Amino acid sequence: MPNCDLHCHSTCSDGLLAPAEVVRRAAENGVDMLALTDHDDIAGLPLARAAAVEVGLDFVNGVEISIEWEGLQIHILGFAFAAADAALNAGLQTVRCGRIERARRMAAELEKVGIDGSFDGAMRLAANPNLVSRAHFGRHLVERGVCKDLRSVFESYLVPGRPGYVDHRWATLADSLGWIHGAGGVATVAHPGRYKLSRGDMRRFLAEFHDLGGQAIEVMSGSHTPEHVDLYSRLAREYGFAASRGSDFHGPGESYVDLGRLPPLPEGLRPVWQLF
Ligand code: AMP
Ligand code: MN
Ligand code: MN
Ligand code: MN
Repeated sequence: MPNCDLHCHSTCSDGLLAPAEVVRRAAENGVDMLALTDHDDIAGLPLARAAAVEVGLDFVNGVEISIEWEGLQIHILGFAFAAADAALNAGLQTVRCGRIERARRMAAELEKVGIDGSFDGAMRLAANPNLVSRAHFGRHLVERGVCKDLRSVFESYLVPGRPGYVDHRWATLADSLGWIHGAGGVATVAHPGRYKLSRGDMRRFLAEFHDLGGQAIEVMSGSHTPEHVDLYSRLAREYGFAASRGSDFHGPGESYVDLGRLPPLPEGLRPVWQLF
């Protein structure tokens, strides 16, 4: 089976390496096929593709779209779409638009618990200011010594019920699939094991995704436990979804797993890359 890593981030969203550096690291790690999947932004794709040509790696266009489903923030991956598609670009632009305003509201909430100046702090770390994310706030809080590492930031701050988390209107599930499919791409649920959904709600979500033409779910993910891998392998078979594999690499020393270093997909699943 080829070493396919179909989920990672660059400085175009909240990754720590430039697109070309991500590609070179993937090649060094033995990746055969890579998709760069920045949050809500596809500006890094041409840079990554040019680097992939140089190092002889198979490159696939990717994006990770932030959506809201029944009040929860969920991520939908798009693969192998036409990056010039006008509706996709306009749609992603609308998702990006709200992020700076959201960051101001996050900073205002943090100020209420005595943490001031976090808007400027997070923005300084965001190479692409339109893509300021909770990861930038998290890194800033670590830098200031508020928490010892990112993991503890996301235990005490920036998650629902904790200071620094604010509700936000992202795209809808139907929007995200419409944009991906309109551009000829393949829609995939990112890290399904990470969402705080009951079994029943997860099934309703997957059924809706299926009915909207969603094709795949990420079974092998840097943030999945072996139990998640078993569960989502079963659900992929049950719903007829193809299976994806992605590290969700954000940067050296920060991510669960390095590029290309995940176990292979379990036997008997249809790999999503067969649809490209
Ligand atoms: P946002 O899109 O602004 O809501 O930020 C989400 C990003 O925050 C994710 O893509 C990760 O980069 C980061 N993040 C969320 N939860 C965690 C966590 N528990 N540990 C580390 N990073 C996280
Ligand atoms: Mn991220
Ligand atoms: Mn994600
Ligand atoms: Mn991701």
